Amino acid sequence: MSGKAAPGPTGNGTSKPRLDRGRGALGPALELVHTGRAPTRAVLTSELGVTRATAGAVAAELEALGLISVDAHPGAAAGSQGRPSHRLEVAENGPVALAAQVHADGFRAALVGLGGRIVATAPGCEAVDADPAKVLGSVVEAGADLLRTTGLRCVGAGLAVPSAVAEPDGLALNPLHLAWPVGAPVRRIFAECVRAAGITGPAFAGNDVNLAALAEHRHGAGRGARDLLCVATGHRGVGGALVLDGRLHTGSSGLALEVGHLAVNPEGRPCHCGSRGCLDVEADPLALLIEAGREPGPEVSLLRQAEDLIRDHYADPTVRRATEALIDRLGLGLAGLVNILNPDRIILGGLHRTLLDADPERLRAVVADRSLWGQSGSVPILPCTLSHNSLVGAAELAWQPVLDDPLAALR
Ligand SMILES: [Zn+2]
Repeated sequence: MSGKAAPGPTGNGTSKPRLDRGRGALGPALELVHTGRAPTRAVLTSELGVTRATAGAVAAELEALGLISVDAHPGAAAGSQGRPSHRLEVAENGPVALAAQVHADGFRAALVGLGGRIVATAPGCEAVDADPAKVLGSVVEAGADLLRTTGLRCVGAGLAVPSAVAEPDGLALNPLHLAWPVGAPVRRIFAECVRAAGITGPAFAGNDVNLAALAEHRHGAGRGARDLLCVATGHRGVGGALVLDGRLHTGSSGLALEVGHLAVNPEGRPCHCGSRGCLDVEADPLALLIEAGREPGPEVSLLRQAEDLIRDHYADPTVRRATEALIDRLGLGLAGLVNILNPDRIILGGLHRTLLDADPERLRAVVADRSLWGQSGSVPILPCTLSHNSLVGAAELAWQPVLDDPLAALR
């Protein structure tokens, strides 16, 4: 047993000052507003299970910290029943997190506020240097420019990379589609770039699909799911993530859910991992272009080319057959994951979202045919809904200390 007694529910009979009583509720309250689950002070009160006075003090403190705004003169919505309540919103010019993403076709920086709101983005860049320090230096500099232009306070920085990130050291273990050295210490390099740019606050790094799943769970298609499975293509390759009870399941050393190397075609193409027929090479944008007999062009990203092909040429039998082949392989992979993980929702991103849009019945039928649970009650399969969900997820990493303890993080 730990020596610290668990805090009991605070009653009304104590003589403690309001804020002292409510301090432990600041983080949970901020998370409720951040994830859109407490649009009013009345909802906040009931979600926290505290008195109206405590909820009022908590909301006032979060407002004083510049994180949320509480409307001073609540009006009842037309036709609504009961007493009007103060609306709670993320503060208009509140602090932001610096979010950075590197992928096979470039990199991008953005400022992301609470609520997963992208406040500003720098133009994407299309060349990724083989030296991670150069790329990360450039993307952080782009973010620092945004901070200077907007004058907003920064709580910290988060980076999304198309590689498993091994913990506890933050190493990019398999940057297969970048020319980066295997095991590059991306978190340390990123943190050094952030410090060198004069940005205060902690720096974090994570796998891009993990971060996309986290963002979708908090702000998008994954809201409310308890066992959320996310499978997505980046610009190259395929990744997966699992969010259990609101937390990313990353395994013992950060490497869980490397679904890209699930074999879905035993006679398929050789994969960079040494195996053959992995989802990574059988169900990504390049695989679609090859399957459809199209020569990949250099002008736009492979992801754009593949998405455009399905959107603009689906009537072409060759494109249709290629799309169906990818849907079948993706379905086979998802079925295996459903059997192992028993998720209550699956969300698909990148090209997989486009495959779902193209023929949802076919994809759902493959998953149902091949999975135990699919036979009885099918798992909902939905498209991701956020634009730039990996960037938003990278920002979530930087927001986490503030969500855990707003007073300590912002003091
Ligand atoms: Zn592989």
